[in-house]
Formats: sequence, C-alpha cells, structure tokens
Amino acid sequence: MGARLIDGKAFAADLRARVAVEVASFQKDSGVTPGLAVVLVGDDPASQVYVRNKEKAAEACGMVAQDHRLPADTSEMALLALVAQLNSDPAVHGILVQMPLPAQVVAHRVVEAIDPAKDVDGLHPVNAGRLALGRLQGPDGALVPCTPQGALILLRDQLDDLAGAAALVIGRSILVGLPMARLLIAENCTVTVAHSRTRDLPAVCRQADIVVAAAGRAELVGGSWIKAGATVIDVGINRVPTLPGSDKPYRLVGDVAFDEAVAVAGAITPVPGGVGPMTIACLLANTLTAACRQTGVEAPLWLS
Ligand code: NAP
Repeated sequence: MGARLIDGKAFAADLRARVAVEVASFQKDSGVTPGLAVVLVGDDPASQVYVRNKEKAAEACGMVAQDHRLPADTSEMALLALVAQLNSDPAVHGILVQMPLPAQVVAHRVVEAIDPAKDVDGLHPVNAGRLALGRLQGPDGALVPCTPQGALILLRDQLDDLAGAAALVIGRSILVGLPMARLLIAENCTVTVAHSRTRDLPAVCRQADIVVAAAGRAELVGGSWIKAGATVIDVGINRVPTLPGSDKPYRLVGDVAFDEAVAVAGAITPVPGGVGPMTIACLLANTLTAACRQTGVEAPLWLS
C-alpha cells in the first residue's frame, strides 16, 4: 500500500490565494496596504533566490514588498540602524532579515532589534516566549516561525484530530524543531524531540504516529524506521550530487528516504514540493496578521 502524497505546493497556492482575498478585504476596510520589508546582506546566490521569491509572493497577493540590499561588508551598526528605521516606518508591517548574516554581524542582536510586532519570522524572544507559553491567539499571540507553522497546517489537513498522537520531531533548532514541538504540544500530541545525541533513533521513530524530520541530514530516516500508517512531514532540504551524465550537478532530497518511506507511511510530504512552499505562504499570512494587529483590525486565524 502506498502513502497519500501531501501536496504542499497545491496547499500553499490555496493558502496564498486565501491571504490575497484577506489582503483585499483588509485594504478595503482600513485603507492600508500590508508592507513587508526584506533585508538581504551580501550576495549569496541561494539567499538572493529566496528573497526574490518572498518579495514576488508578497506582491502577488497585494502587499508592498520593500527590498533592502546591503553589501557583504555592512557593519552591525548600519544594519541595526536600518532595522530601527523599518521599525518606525508605518508602511512596514513585517520585517524579514534573511539569514545567514555575514560573520561581522551578530545575528541574534539583529533579530532582537526587530519590533516583535513586525517580526514575521517569529524569531524574536518575545514571540518565542509567547509560543513557549502557549499564547497563540488574539492580539498578543505569538507570531509563529513560518516553516513549523506550515508543517502544522499540513498535518491538521491530514489528520482530523492530533490529540493523543505520538509525535516525533527530529531536530531541536530555534527555527524549526523547537517551535514545531511546542505547536504539537498545543495540539495535545505526546511529543518526543530527537537530536544528534538521541539513542537508537530508529526505535524511537517506530513508536511515532507523526514524524517531523528536520535534521538537515539527507535521507536519514529509512523506511524501516516508519510505523505503518504514520504521517511523515519531511522538512529537510539537502543537496546531494547527481549520478555522472546528469544535466544537473545536484538534486534535492529530504531527511526521509522517500522511496522507502512511501511504501510504509499513511501520508508523506515530498521534497521538493512539500513543506518548502508552505514556508512562504505562512510568511505572507504572518505579514497580514502583523498588519491587522498594527491597525487594530481582527486578524484571520490561519491555524484554525
Ligand atoms: P539545524 O539548525 O542544523 O538543526 C538540525 C537539528 O537536527 C539539530 O537539532 C541537530 O541536533 C539535529 N540532528 C542533526 N543530525 C542528526 C541526526 N543524525 N539525528 C538526529 N538529529 C540530528 O537545521 P534547521 O535550521 O532546523 O533545518 C533543518 C532542515 O530543515 C535543513 O535541511 C534545512 O535546510 C531545512 N529547512 C527547510 C525549510 C523549508 O522551508 N522547508 C526551512 C528551514 C529549514 P543537535 O541539536 O544535537 O545538533
């Protein structure tokens, strides 16, 4: 029996369309256009593509995208000055500083300088703290990091009720693993967080009804690790070399050995085309939420 394929690309297109409808109605009611400021320091080619995709997606759903490109030798002080300017700009409702930052800049100082109300990546300690406290709804609710938020939306679509499910999150990063675990606890899952020191990860994994793999290790999770019928969300994006003769030097794979897992799981996300597209859609949702809150308008509930 083959697993159901979770089409994150289609789901993200649907979420982006819903955001566009909400943007239009917010604009009509408030006269305000949501603004997303995207800051890129340096000329890393992958970051340039990510930033451009985020800006294009924001514009496509009716927002204004402000593009701020700074040279690779930008000082921390100059970057903090730009963040302060964006914090006080009423046309900017969301601020995204693309990571990684160059070595001369301490990334957490920049994140902590962002107004938490405009922190659409959900990485500021105020938003991380609100998430840790389980404060997810209302005007003071956390802005939640986009990738785990997208993964949870896919899970909720697959499973009628997550309550009581044994969920395994592989990875404990600030960006993905930890917020994912906290979101799953809020869904009343029984959550295990695995990391590089976890003993006998295959055995731990075999107990899980839900597996969220976010280790950044190509095809770490083998088919024999998966419990029959489990729902598998593969967050990993890893470049592996292609075979000689291929027209591309590398291909993208997830943290799950897809061809093996698809035969055992109940449902699974592909890589690419699974969680990745949801990340940008959730960034747009967060930006609209931030704009609503800054304008005193009730924000749509994306996670319900
Ligand atoms: P990260 O900061 O490098 O964290 C990786 C986590 O995985 C760490 O907690 C690490 O454990 C754990 N880990 C590493 N090797 C392991 C192993 N063999 N067994 C068990 N755990 C292991 O990475 P990240 O930022 O969370 O990203 C994880 C993956 O998701 C990457 O492939 C990244 O490209 C991808 N990603 C995708 C999106 C998207 O939009 N789809 C967004 C963000 C990230 P320790 O804490 O013990 O070191």
